[in-house]
Amino acid sequence: MTTMDDLEDLYREIILDHYRSPRNRGELASPPAHRTEGFNPLCGDEIVLTLQLDDGVISDVKVAGHGCSISQSSASLMTGAVKGRSVPEARGAMRSFKRLMTVAEDDDPDADEPVDVRALGELAALQGVVKFPVRIKCATLAWNTLAQALSELGA
Ligand code: ZN
Repeated sequence: MTTMDDLEDLYREIILDHYRSPRNRGELASPPAHRTEGFNPLCGDEIVLTLQLDDGVISDVKVAGHGCSISQSSASLMTGAVKGRSVPEARGAMRSFKRLMTVAEDDDPDADEPVDVRALGELAALQGVVKFPVRIKCATLAWNTLAQALSELGA
């Protein structure tokens, strides 16, 4: 049987693993990739997102930058959640994650619906962050940068 403590240990492990061994780390050549920078001045977190969009699919994505463990592990988890996905799929993951972080977007039709945590996969590891409101901006930085990149691309 899995207790809440086991779950919190597992989540902590996932976050530390993505912090120590970030996935999709680095920068794609831009152009052709699109480059967007994101900042969280409250904590000093910085993200450089490079994204390759081909026929409406995020065919490649990389993240560089520096900051706290929450911001950098969240960026690594984000790349894993959207790489190889269509733009609507990526936006769906973004909406679910922001609802999990209790900062649902105004245009999210399901803003009041409970989040299906199992469908979030490893992203669920960050749900403990909501207990520390000041860190929510750390966790959402990579996703907000992704949203900015998609809007700059008109996607
Ligand atoms: Zn931070």
